[in-house]
Amino acid sequence: MGKGIILDPKVKLLRHFERVQGILNGEFLPPLMVDVDVVDGACNLDCVWCSQGPSRASKRNTSMSARTMRRLGPFCKEWGIKSWRMAGDSEPTLNTNIDILFRTGHECGIDMGLTTNGLLLDRVKNLHLLTWLGISLDATTAKTWSRMKRKPEKNFHRIIDNIKRIRADLPDLEVTIKYVRWSETAHPGKRDFYPTLQIPNEGKQTPISQNNNYADAELLPQLAEELGCKYRLRDAFPKNFSSQYQFEKCLATPLSGCFGADHKFHLCCDARNIYVLTDDYTKNDWKELLDLWGSQGHKDLVASIIPEKCLGCSKWHHCSVLENVVIDGKYTEHYQVNFI
Ligand code: SF4
Ligand code: SF4
Repeated sequence: MGKGIILDPKVKLLRHFERVQGILNGEFLPPLMVDVDVVDGACNLDCVWCSQGPSRASKRNTSMSARTMRRLGPFCKEWGIKSWRMAGDSEPTLNTNIDILFRTGHECGIDMGLTTNGLLLDRVKNLHLLTWLGISLDATTAKTWSRMKRKPEKNFHRIIDNIKRIRADLPDLEVTIKYVRWSETAHPGKRDFYPTLQIPNEGKQTPISQNNNYADAELLPQLAEELGCKYRLRDAFPKNFSSQYQFEKCLATPLSGCFGADHKFHLCCDARNIYVLTDDYTKNDWKELLDLWGSQGHKDLVASIIPEKCLGCSKWHHCSVLENVVIDGKYTEHYQVNFI
């Protein structure tokens, strides 16, 4: 991408005005982007802020089968889905057949992005078929990485080696280092998301005031430049984030969805196993999901969503825009919508 003024990515919603109109009319068009979870219930790291622990714990450890991956491409193409994001509440590269999904997606003209912690990238094939690759590094030194991810420092070096190799082998692939800036004092940790979690004694504890990755974040632009990657730095969601939402309904879910490795179709990647449209999207030779989508049952499920109970809504901006800018909502007056 050339240099210049970069638009706020939220404007992309304008391109999909027909889908937005469909949400407002109650005639849902196919989801635009879906998450494809090729692994359920397992991660090879143990990040201090991981919000996905409860979701992982609610599922059996399952890998999406090669057969399901092969069918997903033609199915999504026919339905009208434009892109797949492979991230999940688990680490997608733990599925050793993930390259099959890349192939079928590519054959069906689907844009694909993979978000991974990067540790196992040396064994993943067909990365050249992706539109983008995001590596959640969240540290720029091995010491901080090890403290944040609770794994030995040598793994940080393995990830850096993986990035260097991919950069050399695939210079045209967009590679972004993702960095969540987190501190124990300002942001929720995994205990907050999962109060009943038993966390083993981790030996010498870092004092709360020092348990953060802020200093490393200063070095991120330099590291990204050295590695020839883009970077994306954002702060973790604040504590009590859900009490700050400026939307009362969830209007965003019909733009997306989530295919689980276990064949469940979840309405939202941030509320897996809570709003489940079907427990088997392959049912009736993959036709049941198409019948359910946009049905009264689907609309009732969407209407049952209480945003306040969603602790970390990554679609908060879409929900806010749809409810307050596209139509009139409780917070519309904050936006001076007629002044553009
Ligand atoms: S790599 Fe991702 S899913 Fe795994 S523990 Fe860390 S934040 Fe959670
Ligand atoms: S409110 Fe946000 S997190 Fe909750 S279901 Fe809707 S989009 Fe997902």
